[in-house]
Amino acid sequence: MLDVQNLSVNIEEKPILKGINLCVKKGETHVLMGPNGAGKSTLGYTLMGNPEYSVTDGKILFDGQDITDFSADKRSKAGMFLSFQDPLEVPGVTLENFIRSSMQQVTGQKVKLFQFAKELEQAMNVLNMNPSYANRDLNVGFSGGEKKKSEILQLLMLKPKLAILDETDSGLDVDAVRIVSKGILEYQKKMDGALIIITHSTRILESLNVDYTHVMVKGKIVHTGDGSLVQKINDHGFDQFIPEEIKEEERRARLMAAAKEAMAQAKANAATEVGAVDAKGAYL
Ligand code: ADP
Ligand code: MG
Repeated sequence: MLDVQNLSVNIEEKPILKGINLCVKKGETHVLMGPNGAGKSTLGYTLMGNPEYSVTDGKILFDGQDITDFSADKRSKAGMFLSFQDPLEVPGVTLENFIRSSMQQVTGQKVKLFQFAKELEQAMNVLNMNPSYANRDLNVGFSGGEKKKSEILQLLMLKPKLAILDETDSGLDVDAVRIVSKGILEYQKKMDGALIIITHSTRILESLNVDYTHVMVKGKIVHTGDGSLVQKINDHGFDQFIPEEIKEEERRARLMAAAKEAMAQAKANAATEVGAVDAKGAYL
């Protein structure tokens, strides 16, 4: 369904993603892990068509169609969904109206109010959301947990073919993670939805069936394994998956930085010594 081929992406001329290959089939769940700054969110935004990210090489196929140059809007219509790492607050638009109008945009059809209200209530129930939140402005004044639940609510209502969840669990307490996870399970089971879950923890994955785990380091997928890899990473960290050449590059960068630091320190010391002599001189 999703076929990412040799995808390279720049942000403002700086290469961030370097030759990503990723294939997600209908109903599969893929977990994407990796250290901060590896490019995970960049991949999510690029898949969703954010114009700040320019594709310099490779292509993105979705349902057999080359969508590399599609706008974000066209990608949503094709059945893709991204849950943001930091969901936006939209004053003046209620959660309910936002979801209903997104559904109308994606399907191109009018969403009947009665059916919609019933479905929304059910979905909010799954997520233990107070029904009064439907009439509040989208994410305005929502806690971190409530914002993430509102993203999952959109997922359940929009029923995309593929959902990319970017750190939907970060900053949530144990109960909120469990509820968000329950919502994702509902999407996985009832809608046979495909998922790319970007996460740092195993908690959100406990009740989910994970087919593949990918480790991203410095804009490349350096290792792919099955669902059990998540636990291994949690126990032992990413280090074992970082290729020697990337480690070597980092060592060199660290040495360079240390040398620069030492040089700056030496210059600063020399300057204060000169300053001290001058100061003493002034008193003589
Ligand atoms: P991750 O989600 O894996 O932590 P990101 O995709 O957010 O990593 O970031 C990857 C790299 O791209 C980082 O070096 C980050 O500083 C850089 N980056 C991300 N977004 C921007 C942006 N809008 N402008 C400039 N650099 C960016
Ligand atoms: Mg990120």
